[in-house]
Amino acid sequence: MYKCLDCGNTEKFIGHAQEKGDVLIYKNDLNYKKEPYAWVYKISEKSWGFDLRVDKCFFCNSANIVKI
Ligand SMILES: [Zn+2]
Repeated sequence: MYKCLDCGNTEKFIGHAQEKGDVLIYKNDLNYKKEPYAWVYKISEKSWGFDLRVDKCFFCNSANIVKI
């Protein structure tokens, strides 16, 4: 969990997340004109990664965030 050093908030923060891992990409025959390719994610649990970064406090916009 995280904590804002300025207002003490531990509930809500603004940040961004990125998932990355192996994917399957295949031709989408059913709906080719609208969406030529379909994606299937997460073909391997082992190679799946998840990055989470907290940028600032939701309430006071402070970037003084610590991991607790
Ligand atoms: Zn705050």
